[in-house]
Amino acid sequence: MNVQFFKTKVIPCHLAPSEERRALELMELCGRCAYKSEEKITENSAKAFVQMLKSHGHLSVLEHSNVVLKVEPKGEKGSTSNGLENLRLQLLNLLTERTGFHRVAMLQNGPSRVLAVAGNFRSWIETLGVLGRHDPSLGAFFQGELQKHFPSIFPPLEPGSQDFPFTLSLMGQKEQLESLQNHVHSDLPVFVFKFICDRGITHEVVRHRVLSFTQESTRYVNYRNRGMALMVPEELEACFDEETGRFTEENPLVRLWIDRGTMLFKWYQEDLARGLKPQIARDILPNLLKSEIFVTGRWSGWKHFIGLRDSAAAHPRIRFIAREVRKYFEGLGLSPEL
Ligand SMILES: Cc1cc2nc3c(=O)[nH]c(=O)nc-3n(C[C@H](O)[C@H](O)[C@H](O)COP(=O)(O)OP(=O)(O)OC[C@H]3O[C@@H](n4cnc5c(N)ncnc54)[C@H](O)[C@@H]3O)c2cc1C
Repeated sequence: MNVQFFKTKVIPCHLAPSEERRALELMELCGRCAYKSEEKITENSAKAFVQMLKSHGHLSVLEHSNVVLKVEPKGEKGSTSNGLENLRLQLLNLLTERTGFHRVAMLQNGPSRVLAVAGNFRSWIETLGVLGRHDPSLGAFFQGELQKHFPSIFPPLEPGSQDFPFTLSLMGQKEQLESLQNHVHSDLPVFVFKFICDRGITHEVVRHRVLSFTQESTRYVNYRNRGMALMVPEELEACFDEETGRFTEENPLVRLWIDRGTMLFKWYQEDLARGLKPQIARDILPNLLKSEIFVTGRWSGWKHFIGLRDSAAAHPRIRFIAREVRKYFEGLGLSPEL
């Protein structure tokens, strides 16, 4: 099988969905990227797949998600605004100190105020555990609303939970985005991208610890069956046709890279043939190996990523990625320079 070449690509998957079915489907897509088992996706496979991940404790895949809950005073608006501020401080203390990836923002809604609490599924699952130990009634308050909208992820409540002077509701993606555009520090929505790039670049991407990742596994993917794909190195870009996936000329440099790739792939296959597992045979695979990675985070995390990686000091292929990410956000009216 021949070695194939691809160009670095950025595919925006937009805001993490606020509706359960689409949220589960996105997490399945991300999770199946690791073992390249996307062909197993069916109309109804997402729920079981995500529940399996959750039961095995593979919660990092559940980070490709976002739930924003709005807390508002019950009854007379404003009468419990002190209570809302107290709740904000309590949540800041409990959530951000113990399960650091939440966002808690006070938003102005006409004359009244709304407290927005955001977290991905992993954060909420871990938070409910923390609240269960430190403040069970507050935990039950949130769990009830989470269960209502995401019953596949959050278990039903035990009967007899305490009444709170607040109501909860789910904030949809459109409102999340508007809140970010109007109050950039609220940081409520979560944005998901798929990058197709080389293994060297995914290694740089995953250094951005405030983002979340699921990437193709070189341990579990067997390239003997799929063939080996490399990314186009800079020096070959001018003679690569992205449409056809072929080189437009066979100059000595093109030949050199094809020969190198073919040799490495031959060694990989020889190692498999003598009984080594893919996770050991991968030792000979190059940094240039094509790799897929889903990367998810809030605007603050992406802004930091763009700041560091859309820079002359960065590797040209991660700089390309950062520029594409920058363009996406600029299309939403969000600029890292603002
Ligand atoms: C041009 C360039 C060259 C580089 N060269 C090298 C190199 O030679 N070797 C190398 O190892 N790396 C290198 N890196 C990677 C670099 O050191 C960072 O790991 C990477 O850029 C991620 O940056 P970050 O840690 O600021 O981002 P994130 O991990 O996303 O962190 C964002 C923010 O979260 C907070 N944060 C996250 N985790 C912690 C924590 N544990 N403690 C305290 N605060 C935290 C901080 O406020 C931080 O600003 C390079 C990066 C660039 C851009």
